[in-house]
Amino acid sequence: MSDIQYQDPLSDIAADQDGGDASLERKRKLRLNKLQKRLRRETGRAIEDFKMIEEGDRVMVCLSGGKDSYTLLDILLNLQKSAPVNFELVAVNLDQKQPGFPEHILPAYLESLGVPFHIVERDTYSIVKSVVPEGKTTCGLCSRLRRGTLYGFADEIGANKIALGHHRDDILETFFLNMFYGGKLKAMPPKLVSDDGKNMVIRPLAYSREKDIEAYSELKAFPIIPCNLCGSQENLQRQVIKEMLQGWDRSHPGRIETMFRSLQHVVPSHLADTGLFDFAGLELGFAHGIRGGEDGVAGDRIDILSL
Ligand code: SF4
Repeated sequence: MSDIQYQDPLSDIAADQDGGDASLERKRKLRLNKLQKRLRRETGRAIEDFKMIEEGDRVMVCLSGGKDSYTLLDILLNLQKSAPVNFELVAVNLDQKQPGFPEHILPAYLESLGVPFHIVERDTYSIVKSVVPEGKTTCGLCSRLRRGTLYGFADEIGANKIALGHHRDDILETFFLNMFYGGKLKAMPPKLVSDDGKNMVIRPLAYSREKDIEAYSELKAFPIIPCNLCGSQENLQRQVIKEMLQGWDRSHPGRIETMFRSLQHVVPSHLADTGLFDFAGLELGFAHGIRGGEDGVAGDRIDILSL
């Protein structure tokens, strides 16, 4: 991760309000270029750091119709043109048969891009409605059904990677959700193998901020399809965490970046998980180090006298 201080794209937008109409289009393009460069740089770095995409990969990009997945596809298509490796992109949308889902929007958009795509039709909406009691949040079951369907479809089309549009704010929200409500130190990994071991899931926007994605999506005028056509409310706990993080972001600029960096500098010897670190095996005369000469991984012992 870079230590470069985050710059809010909205500060540009606010400053531009005073610029008059004449140069508005030029400024819009400048902002778009600046944001695109930042998103490209961050995505490229995430892909490289986690070896997300390699030569010959067939990457299935999951497109929900929201700002995150549109941005993901856009940036991956952009990177594909200059990437040092050859890889294929296939866009896939799952039509969950929500009432009012505008079926024509995604095919029209994807055809205009010329990217190969599939629309998978599965009525998960009816399943969710019949299983979850009225008034309860349906997003958990809905997401699991969507994930299962998409993983299965990746096998059908021979995609060896599945790209999802989760970003850095999603990762931090999940981290705090797990800590506050689940009692676990666990976030959302930029790369993982699915539970059945068959699919490799990647999150190329892992280093990108939601507000950059939001601003980029607005400037690109992506044809957004709202997720809540089903009438479900966003998970209340996630909403609480989101507001907490947004509050910190306003009152302590830079804290989000620092917190994300902490996920990449974990020191097991200074936590309290006996399964992760061999506290029982600690001996006098040796230091269980910390990464970079100080690793903290169980069994990685450094002679303190030689330091
Ligand atoms: S808002 Fe509706 S469609 Fe979106 S995840 Fe939740 S239940 Fe599914």
